[in-house]
Amino acid sequence: METMYELLRNYVGPLVMVVTTTVGVQYLAEVGGDNAPTSWSLVGNLHSWTVVFLTLLWALLSLLVPGKLFSGPQTSFGYTPVYKANGFQFFVVSLAAFLTLVLYYPHIPLDLVDNFQNILASCNILAFVLCIYLLLKGKLWPEAVEVLEPKPIVYEFYRGMELHPRMLGVDVKQLTNCRFGLLAWELLVVAFFLAGWERNGFSLAHLVCATLQTIYLAKFYWWETGYFNTLDIILDRAGYYICWGCLVFVPSLYTYASFFLVAHPPLVSTTAAIFFFILGLCAIIGNYRIDWEKEYFRAMDGKCDLWGRPATYIEAEYTSASGPKRSKLLTSGCWGVARHLNYTFELLLALSWCLPGLGYGFWPFLYVIFLTVLLVHRVFRDEDKCRDKYGASWDKYCREVPYRMIPWVF
Ligand code: NDP
Repeated sequence: METMYELLRNYVGPLVMVVTTTVGVQYLAEVGGDNAPTSWSLVGNLHSWTVVFLTLLWALLSLLVPGKLFSGPQTSFGYTPVYKANGFQFFVVSLAAFLTLVLYYPHIPLDLVDNFQNILASCNILAFVLCIYLLLKGKLWPEAVEVLEPKPIVYEFYRGMELHPRMLGVDVKQLTNCRFGLLAWELLVVAFFLAGWERNGFSLAHLVCATLQTIYLAKFYWWETGYFNTLDIILDRAGYYICWGCLVFVPSLYTYASFFLVAHPPLVSTTAAIFFFILGLCAIIGNYRIDWEKEYFRAMDGKCDLWGRPATYIEAEYTSASGPKRSKLLTSGCWGVARHLNYTFELLLALSWCLPGLGYGFWPFLYVIFLTVLLVHRVFRDEDKCRDKYGASWDKYCREVPYRMIPWVF
């Protein structure tokens, strides 16, 4: 007989998550809007479907154009996923194309604001259709044979079946995460800033909010191939959790601080806005530096200097699909200060682009609150993964670098 825990984990949890998050994003768009009665439809409208379809098509085309390929890490069952390596070009061309479009059709930003709930409704439907397809595909014609413990269908729908499914000749997670979700995030924050300008006049604080996110996303696209080594790609299966997350939650919640400021013009002073910008820039540089130190250290196989001294590390062994392998865990530089200092700076950055909403209570800070929960949870997920992979060497690293995110605190 199934225990209460299994019942909650396999049935109730996924079901509650699917229902609350799907409804939740629609509610958020209502709260963040301008209290004027809005009419939106559960099935979206012509405008929303046009926006969603064009974004999806553009995202898909970016992965179909000829270009350099990148091979991600091999899975434990011997499958090597292949991605298109043109992230930064995609970002620059997309942003330029969008701004040109707005130049010719200046009503686009306000149309996007007014139709935001319909757009999210269309994204919700798109995500559901895709996740049902991914469930069937994973069960009936998977990309690679992998033995999975059978689970209830609702759990499989939520978690996903395959790690690296492909569709229409492209990797599904690169399409949904990198090319649809993050592009929608970028274009929406730009549109929300322009819509706020049109509706309320120019606001430096709103510009700071959009600019920090734009720099952050440009940085993401610059490093896109590095993303293929992260938990989202190597641990999360393509299902509701990650695909709905990127198709709906990212355009909704990640853009929320910018969306909120359209109907609630910033109250903070120019000096405060400049301070938030400097704070955000420092956080971006810090986050980038920490990620870079690890990548540089790995690329140099440990033979490098960090902070003016030779890097120190712990030798670690693990077993991969192709046999035993060796790796190194960096214990100096930023990775000697805390095990996930990059997340701390990520949170500081998120805070800095939410701060222009200061004075309106809790709503403008929703993203940073959510991200705190997500990243703290992610620290534990990542550490479980590393402990499984490296065993005693990981425990030794934890003893040498005892703090997770903030030295002497956590
Ligand atoms: P990390 O970049 O922190 O990478 C963690 C991995 O690095 C571990 O699984 C391990 O992988 C390796 N590692 C851990 N410690 C060491 C060490 N001391 N020396 C060498 N390698 C080590 O995690 P993420 O992939 O989660 O984050 C990447 C970026 O994305 C960060 O900047 C983060 O802030 C950002 N991010 C943003 C999110 C958002 O929603 N805004 C969500 C999540 C991340 P291995 O198996 O290779 O050893």
